[in-house]
Amino acid sequence: MIAEGAEVVCLDNLISGELAHIAHLRGHPKFQFVEHDVASPIQLDGVDAVFHLASPASPNPDSQKSYIAHPVETALANSQGTHELLKLAERNGAGFLFASTSEAYGDPLEHPQRETYWGNVNPIGIRSCYDESKRFGEALSMAFFRSHGVKARIVRIFNTYGPRCDVLDGRVVPAFIGQALAGLPLTVHGDGSQTRSLCYVSDLVDGLWRMMNEPRTCGDVVNLGNPEEHTVLEFAELIRKLCGSESRIVFEGLRADDPTRRRPDIAKAQALLGWNPTVPLIDGLERTIQWCREQPA
Ligand code: UDP
Repeated sequence: MIAEGAEVVCLDNLISGELAHIAHLRGHPKFQFVEHDVASPIQLDGVDAVFHLASPASPNPDSQKSYIAHPVETALANSQGTHELLKLAERNGAGFLFASTSEAYGDPLEHPQRETYWGNVNPIGIRSCYDESKRFGEALSMAFFRSHGVKARIVRIFNTYGPRCDVLDGRVVPAFIGQALAGLPLTVHGDGSQTRSLCYVSDLVDGLWRMMNEPRTCGDVVNLGNPEEHTVLEFAELIRKLCGSESRIVFEGLRADDPTRRRPDIAKAQALLGWNPTVPLIDGLERTIQWCREQPA
């Protein structure tokens, strides 16, 4: 966005974020960081666009950065936080984008997932602080669109990876790369037959930017993700190979409510935004592995 000429104010309470991830932006005259919890009121003027991406997003129960470790903060970031940021957008007449999630579909009974699918979510399960608050955030965004005229749109983001991912937050790509580079066993949950479709981060960012800049997306929801689907075991084998690692693959218990299949239908993004993922899986993984290699142990 800064490259497009925008001035950016970045709000984060650092519950799962890292200042190191914005080190390259700090000191830039068009970038400002404010340590702030979006669930608290915020006063900012001259805002043209609000991107609400603030929420823990890792389901790993062993990570201190996951939404499982911070269920109340997660539920509030996506409910109260969405309310505060919608009010901010309304006061400024700004565009608003709510970062929802493929988790809104739960363990999907429809495959691939289209935006018209209403989902199969456990409302009191261990993931519900995330899934249900994202679903509420979608509903609140639509309420502000319908009754307050806020230019709100919703993106359902599918699994995304790339440089500046967090090896400690337990998500599948950084977890497997970290293990493979350290010569530790790659921990596949269950028998590894569950599927995911991985989108490289620059493709996702391109989609978010197009979404905000396309007026026809107001009051609408669009999937963003890469439809190339693989099993988790395939990801483990590929990452081990690309890392040149001799690590073993071990099988552990499946996480509660771990979706068995996930792949976005992106026909709507293609039609509305002219968007397609462009970075092939192997290229994206190689770039991510290279970045991980450059990080301090
Ligand atoms: N997974 C795994 N081993 C790990 C981390 C994740 O087998 O060390 C599996 C996890 O059980 C899930 C998939 O990889 O089926 C994606 O998990 P992730 O935490 O990245 O995100 P999710 O899609 O579940 O939100």
